[in-house]
Amino acid sequence: MAEWWFMEPDAFHAFIRELGERFMLYAPARRDGIVTFTFVENHEDVELSKRPFTSPKAAFLPQTEVLLKFSLRGERVHLSPAQRPESPIAVVGIRPCEAGALKLLDPVFSSPPEDVHYTLRRENALLVGFACTSPERWCFCTSLGSSPFDEDGLDVLLVEVSGGYCALAVTERGRRALEVVRDMLRKADEALLGEIEERRRQAERAMKTLDVERFIARLEDMGDDPIWEEIAARCIGCGICTYLCPTCYCFDIQDEAGLTSGRRVRVWDSCMYPEYTLEASGHNPRPKRVHRVKNRIYHKFRWYVDLFGLVGCVGCGRCAEHCPVNVDIKEIISEVVRR
Ligand code: SF4
Ligand code: SF4
Repeated sequence: MAEWWFMEPDAFHAFIRELGERFMLYAPARRDGIVTFTFVENHEDVELSKRPFTSPKAAFLPQTEVLLKFSLRGERVHLSPAQRPESPIAVVGIRPCEAGALKLLDPVFSSPPEDVHYTLRRENALLVGFACTSPERWCFCTSLGSSPFDEDGLDVLLVEVSGGYCALAVTERGRRALEVVRDMLRKADEALLGEIEERRRQAERAMKTLDVERFIARLEDMGDDPIWEEIAARCIGCGICTYLCPTCYCFDIQDEAGLTSGRRVRVWDSCMYPEYTLEASGHNPRPKRVHRVKNRIYHKFRWYVDLFGLVGCVGCGRCAEHCPVNVDIKEIISEVVRR
């Protein structure tokens, strides 16, 4: 079924409902007035109209996760590993850049020693993507080799069209998922294919192109440039940019212990905090905000490249969109290239 299929809203809802029968649904839904990625019980809560506040990263790397529990039995400590991830997850409404971000997290968590909590979730997941027909003004995925309609890394790609959605089965897993509502689908005709193409062109045209290759090359000798002090003077070190970034993966391990039992918990951490690199001796290799600001950019655009041969940013623009003091990664890239 490597073709586009049209589904009316009824078929779309039936598709999501059927997915909910077989997977844990993780999708954009309104919570406290904000559209955010979350586990949803009721398929009618799924809301695709707006790009969610968060990325779907937490479906695979939960913000807080118990890794093991421990208890004292007599004089011996008993360890019980946390249960392996339960049912498979269907992420509905994941944007192409966010699917790209998962591909950047994969080498981190699958390299030895493999993190089975992450890799099991990833292996069993179904990714139902949603093409960005109206990219946000923050978006620059086309500068990083992707596009608003990029199907790479997805199982199904949905595009909103007049009167409903068109669906493309990208993988065999995606084909099987669509098969369940096969009776409600009809092959997209020439007019629909033309509409998809036009929407794709419009979305790509709406995005500013940045010279990321030149930016990466310029970073080589920009380590002492005043630009990092200029950014650090504005940054308040809140860490929002890292928490909302779909490619940031830093975490801390904390033991929460009572008198006779406790648990080991993994929690998201942020390199924008001074404690992040604080060593037990009291030494901190990144004591100033300027070091941390620079590290965030250099890690994504130089050191991740050195480690895995990939740029550690997908151009979603969330870090800029939600920074309380308007530190904008697009402006940083443009300014470094210009200097
Ligand atoms: S969101 Fe903005 S202010 Fe907060 S740490 Fe990131 S760059 Fe600094
Ligand atoms: S660094 Fe910013 S633009 Fe790049 S992936 Fe992270 S949040 Fe998106």
